[in-house]
Amino acid sequence: RRRAAAAGAHRPARTIDGVEVRVGANLAGLADATAAAAAGADLAGLVRTEFLFLDRGTAPDVDEQTEAYRALADALDGRRLTLRTLDVGGDKPLAYAPVPASDNPFLGVRGLRFSLLRPDLFAAQLTAIVRVAHETPVTVLFPMVTTVDELAAARAALDEAVRAEKRGTPPGLEVAAMVEVPSAALKAAALAPLVDEFSVGTNDLTQYTLAAARGDEGVAALGTPWDPGVLRLVGAVCRAAGPSTRVSVCGEFASEPGAAAALIGLGVRELSVAPALVPAVKLAVRETTTSEAARTAAEALNAPTAAKAQAFFSPSTQP
Ligand code: PEP
Ligand code: MG
Repeated sequence: RRRAAAAGAHRPARTIDGVEVRVGANLAGLADATAAAAAGADLAGLVRTEFLFLDRGTAPDVDEQTEAYRALADALDGRRLTLRTLDVGGDKPLAYAPVPASDNPFLGVRGLRFSLLRPDLFAAQLTAIVRVAHETPVTVLFPMVTTVDELAAARAALDEAVRAEKRGTPPGLEVAAMVEVPSAALKAAALAPLVDEFSVGTNDLTQYTLAAARGDEGVAALGTPWDPGVLRLVGAVCRAAGPSTRVSVCGEFASEPGAAAALIGLGVRELSVAPALVPAVKLAVRETTTSEAARTAAEALNAPTAAKAQAFFSPSTQP
């Protein structure tokens, strides 16, 4: 099986009935970019740019960020680079940019909420991203989007960064929103006109949908993306996105056994996973028939429990 996965790793993955599903890699540094290219990733579907900002005394300036993003692009050799703007706050505070204290940091100032409170840091990051987007295909990805107004403000900040560079709009520049907040999933039809792509972050979407904190062992059994409530939200995003907005999934769920078929069945056409898992996920795509997966997914959405939904796609996990 591993040999079969490795053999097809560098070709695009198509389902049995010929639907292409792009398989990207999630990166948190330069070593991951090298690993992603070696593993045959079609793109970098998520760059967690926090790696540049954490564990230091001051924020990286525009030049430092531009260099770092360019190094990722070089390692990816022309593959699309999805740069997520800073997702700090929550469990990842920055010493040089404190946020208001919160009893519930995951429900406080994090992700895009943080960037909109710090337009100076946001503009610097967007400027670096725009500079690299003039050299390679780039998607700007905004984390923790909750409302249409926030997403519009983020787009306005990006437009301003493009204008300030005075070189026109970079030809391959695309805009994407993370769907991690249940309200955003339910408002996908209103958010879709503002973006080229939705990237569903099932790690956070699961924690917020089930009110079960990530990494809290006491509620680990509750916090599963197989919960039919989470699956229904993913399905709702795919339906609302329509043909003009792609839907990808970049949470850990995308690489779970059975999940590729479930997500393809719900309408997802791009998956992004840890670099080492790209070949196995491409193999899972190649073993899926879209029409059959769609029928099975429709049944899984109506399952009463996570275990029963999962059993539709992973027969070894009988409830
Ligand atoms: C997610 O929430 O699923 C996600 C991909 O983002 P992160 O894990 O960085 O919060
Ligand atoms: Mg997240």
